[in-house]
Amino acid sequence: MGENTVNDSRFEAFRKVFYTYLEQHGLSRTSERYAVIREVYELSGHFDVETLFVRLKQKKYQVSRTTLYHTLDLLEDSGLVRKYRFDDGPAVYECAFRQPPHDHILLPDSGETIEFSHPLVEELIRSLEAEHDIRITGRSVVFYAKQN
Ligand SMILES: [Zn+2]
Repeated sequence: MGENTVNDSRFEAFRKVFYTYLEQHGLSRTSERYAVIREVYELSGHFDVETLFVRLKQKKYQVSRTTLYHTLDLLEDSGLVRKYRFDDGPAVYECAFRQPPHDHILLPDSGETIEFSHPLVEELIRSLEAEHDIRITGRSVVFYAKQN
């Protein structure tokens, strides 16, 4: 029972969520989609489509950019991936599986991104939900900063 066993069962749970989603939407399980979810699962932190494309290519998977975008949309819709668009840059994604939501501080000068979770943001969400009788299903809280 090494670390790989644990990670594999976690990946299995991830895969199961996606396959259930595909089934519910009448979409098929293709080898391309499998390759994409395996790679997305293994990537840590933020990544863009180009990074994913290059990694899959290095592993000799034939996955077009169109398929990549489409599969990422499906992953986002199924809640397994979060998508962000910071500034005018390319969309960045990150694996959201069993990860609580967080927010970002960008330091454009260095290109660094700080991730944070703050109870006040959660409190604000609850308060807005109650005030407007809504359920907030997505968020995009970004602060821009300069290093002192
Ligand atoms: Zn993040």
